[in-house]
Amino acid sequence: MTYTLDNEAGVEDVETLVIGAGPTGLGAATRLDQLARSFLLVDSVSVAGGLASTDTTPEGFLFDVGGHVIFSHYAYFDDAIKRALPNEEDWLTHQRVSYVRCANTWVPYPFQNNISTLPMDLQLQCLDGLILAAEERGRNASFKPTTFDQYILRTMGEGIADVFMRPYNFRVWGVPTTQMQCKWLGERVAAPSLRQVVRNALTKETAGNWGPNAVFKFPARDGTGGIWTAMARTIPPKKMRLGEHGAVARIEAGKKVAVLQNGQRVRYKNLISTMAVDGLLGCMGQEEGVEGMQTAARQGLVYSSTIILGLGIRGTRPDRIGDKCWLYFPEDDSPYYRATIFSNYSPYNTPSSSASLPTLQLADGSAPQDSEPADGPYWSIMFEVCQSEQKPVNLETVLADTIRGAVATSLLLPTDQIVSTYQRRFDHGYPTPTLGRDAALEQILPVLKDKYGIWSRGRFGSWKYECGNQDHSFMLGVEAVDNALFGAPEMTLNETDWVNGRRNDERRL
Ligand SMILES: Cc1cc2nc3c(=O)[nH]c(=O)nc-3n(C[C@H](O)[C@H](O)[C@H](O)COP(=O)(O)OP(=O)(O)OC[C@H]3O[C@@H](n4cnc5c(N)ncnc54)[C@H](O)[C@@H]3O)c2cc1C
Repeated sequence: MTYTLDNEAGVEDVETLVIGAGPTGLGAATRLDQLARSFLLVDSVSVAGGLASTDTTPEGFLFDVGGHVIFSHYAYFDDAIKRALPNEEDWLTHQRVSYVRCANTWVPYPFQNNISTLPMDLQLQCLDGLILAAEERGRNASFKPTTFDQYILRTMGEGIADVFMRPYNFRVWGVPTTQMQCKWLGERVAAPSLRQVVRNALTKETAGNWGPNAVFKFPARDGTGGIWTAMARTIPPKKMRLGEHGAVARIEAGKKVAVLQNGQRVRYKNLISTMAVDGLLGCMGQEEGVEGMQTAARQGLVYSSTIILGLGIRGTRPDRIGDKCWLYFPEDDSPYYRATIFSNYSPYNTPSSSASLPTLQLADGSAPQDSEPADGPYWSIMFEVCQSEQKPVNLETVLADTIRGAVATSLLLPTDQIVSTYQRRFDHGYPTPTLGRDAALEQILPVLKDKYGIWSRGRFGSWKYECGNQDHSFMLGVEAVDNALFGAPEMTLNETDWVNGRRNDERRL
């Protein structure tokens, strides 16, 4: 189908312009292509994937933007990734092996079901809190928590709050749990059964495998980014512009024209923007009504930055690491809240053992005795560090601090040989579910859509962490298209609990 408007010289016309070739933009483009509609997908970065892309160090180690695991709530999403990566050998399947580092020990995830592995004083602290919380729920059955902190105290009590939930969540979000709402939680935080916790504490049993991603699959090649570069290959190249020719500089929303950095003007009927909504409002300049939305965004939308660090290490994977996947760190002996043993996800996430690499340093910070290149094998760890106004990070020292932390938390031995390092900061990393978020979004998203024909969607386009994973993001794009073209409801954005609560067991991987 071709789409034409009365042409203004030098202006390109499309029915739908999609800004951003991350999962949301690719979801929109996939749907538009399926419907054979007129569209253009643009991104300022030359490789598709956005926050779900993968970097490779000069030495050949791959690192995602933090631990990415797919758990799909949608058949449409499953079909799309199957089309993008159709072969059995494109994927590897893993059992989640996840722990929390606490009191110099590894507590199996989820922490609250496995306190039996803690030293006795911490077990007592946690159990005391759990029992008092159960009593309080009995006394005050109708109380509905508003803040994340109240939710934690009500379901887990003061002990688990102080030992794990409060410190860990501050390290993830960069704001205290008292400043966060709890509506976003849904299936993400395991509510413990007091009976089970007490039984496990007495019998010394552990309870694992809670939650949606006990088994997960991961691309064999090219990391998580491999999914999205493959997805981008399913979109006709003439409908996609990536790199400097795809950068949007300005949006003349009244005229429904996007101006690219190279001066090219693109006129649209519908705009699906997946860039961060605060950035989008910045691009809209002085249009009527924009200032009010900018104020709402400034006052109500909070985010934290994510710093990803990676280490490539020479040697066979040590027994102390085993088949661990991702690990949580609530204590302050390291700067990171999460570490992923990325080499466990695919053998192609590290260079082959025949690659000859010099040692850059030992894990204790000392210079290697021998700086000549030597063979592998290799393994790797990826770390995530949160940076926010309330949780500053020294970018000059964070890599050295991470390596020191890795030794302190027994991920590395002081003598381990580091052959590759990686550090990259992503300014918008986590959209924070603060108390003021929903009121701000109410003042922004409907106005953009109804007044300007702009569907701002995606992890930061619609700023809802609870529907900000890859599957959600992809479907936010698909559903935005169906809403723009046919008026269909956007279930992921507006009925997130329903989407997340749906059990697609038959579709689990
Ligand atoms: C640390 C971390 C861990 C995560 N873990 C998981 C996980 O375990 N499982 C999971 O499913 N998901 C996870 N995610 C979420 C996943 O990365 C997101 O779902 C996804 O990347 C969001 O997609 P998006 O398309 O909405 O936004 P983005 O990926 O941010 O894409 C937006 C795109 O817009 C482009 N853009 C911005 N401004 C402009 C402009 N002016 N002109 C042109 N283009 C522009 C950007 O270059 C970018 O490519 C994680 C994310 C992070 C940061």
